[in-house]
Amino acid sequence: MARINDNYLKLQAGYLFPEISRRVTEFTTANPDAKVIRLGIGDVTRPLVPAVLAAFHAGVDDMAKGESFHGYGPEQGYSWLSQVIIDKAYKPLGVELKTSEVFISDGSKCDSSNILDIFDLSNKVAIGDPVYPVYNDTNVMVGRSGAANEQGYYEGLVYMPCTEENDFAPAFPSEKVDVIYLCSPNNPTGTVTSREQLKAWVDYALENDAVILFDAAYEAFITEADIPRSIYEIEGAKQCAIEFRSFSKTAGFTGVRCGLTVVPHELMGTTATGEKYSFNKLWNRRQCTKFNGVSYPVQKAAAAVYSDEGWAQVKEVIDYYMENARIIREGLTEAGIQCFGGVNAPYIWLRTPEGMTSWDFFDKLLNECHVVGTPGSGFGPSGEGYFRLSAFGDKEKVVEAVGKIKQKWGK
Ligand SMILES: *Cc1c(COP(=O)(O)O)cnc(C)c1O
Repeated sequence: MARINDNYLKLQAGYLFPEISRRVTEFTTANPDAKVIRLGIGDVTRPLVPAVLAAFHAGVDDMAKGESFHGYGPEQGYSWLSQVIIDKAYKPLGVELKTSEVFISDGSKCDSSNILDIFDLSNKVAIGDPVYPVYNDTNVMVGRSGAANEQGYYEGLVYMPCTEENDFAPAFPSEKVDVIYLCSPNNPTGTVTSREQLKAWVDYALENDAVILFDAAYEAFITEADIPRSIYEIEGAKQCAIEFRSFSKTAGFTGVRCGLTVVPHELMGTTATGEKYSFNKLWNRRQCTKFNGVSYPVQKAAAAVYSDEGWAQVKEVIDYYMENARIIREGLTEAGIQCFGGVNAPYIWLRTPEGMTSWDFFDKLLNECHVVGTPGSGFGPSGEGYFRLSAFGDKEKVVEAVGKIKQKWGK
């Protein structure tokens, strides 16, 4: 009899989004005429921009002719795409990278999970709380944790609470850790890590021989000057950090699939016998064995994101979402609801009014305003009493939702 990976049984059932669906269906069944506005999703809603679509189509047409057909591409991605990313997304930040340090993939959810392949199970891992659930659950799946306690914390993992009290900035762990997940701009809190804070993390990692896994999926949403868009803007980061980026939120690729991971040549780990070894070599080996590249038309489409025309169009879509974020943030603030984030990220993280729990607020918002959001407690124990609203939606609906919330809670 084949044994299963019992670690999967430690996971709490995929509870958050199914439970949201269940409650929304129950409400719409009882109130068939109510128009429900969904601001709960972490998915984009605007279509691909014209320049990206044209390149995508041209890539498909290339596949139709013998002379321009593409079979297996490099496992690391085409170097013309890596080079465009280096030139357009990193050079302007003062960050120099080689194409051999950039690995194109089908998205950063997979990369931020698969990266655990190149780290020994004995490493201590620190994650934020609340957090993008992938970091937590993938560590449980590989067997790095014990069971969850009644609060939802897994034995063996180190949690860094992020609350209003610490301005949503995780504190350095009190015990020694080897791997640290950071996400800025943050999902779910919508807050960012400042240059000083990020420098402190890089210094900490260098001092403690730790590796930072930096998720920059939302860097394109940064609007304020001097907020770092890449961890490599910080001196020394190439010796201690891996960075994940994605075309998903930046350019509407959630259904197209393209992302990238940067593993600098300077980044070293330690072998069982105490020698230094390159993480870049390991990741390259991992990808060559377990991954066969992203489809050619998708990589053509991704490169077009960084053309002058493509970037102008993509920027317009980002501005559209960020205008939604402004409407939500300002509207809720006027209604006396305390809001965080939404300036450099498409998420608004709000303190539930009247001390309600996250789920009580969810029910009230659904029943009385017909608006769906995401309970903060679904992202970790420290998310209790908070709530996430997403700016990925139609402006008219966002305006309508905010109007209803103001009617209900405004003075
Ligand atoms: C959406 C998101 C990603 C991107 O995932 P893809 O697999 O590239 O679509 C990565 N990290 C966070 C925190 C996200 O919210």
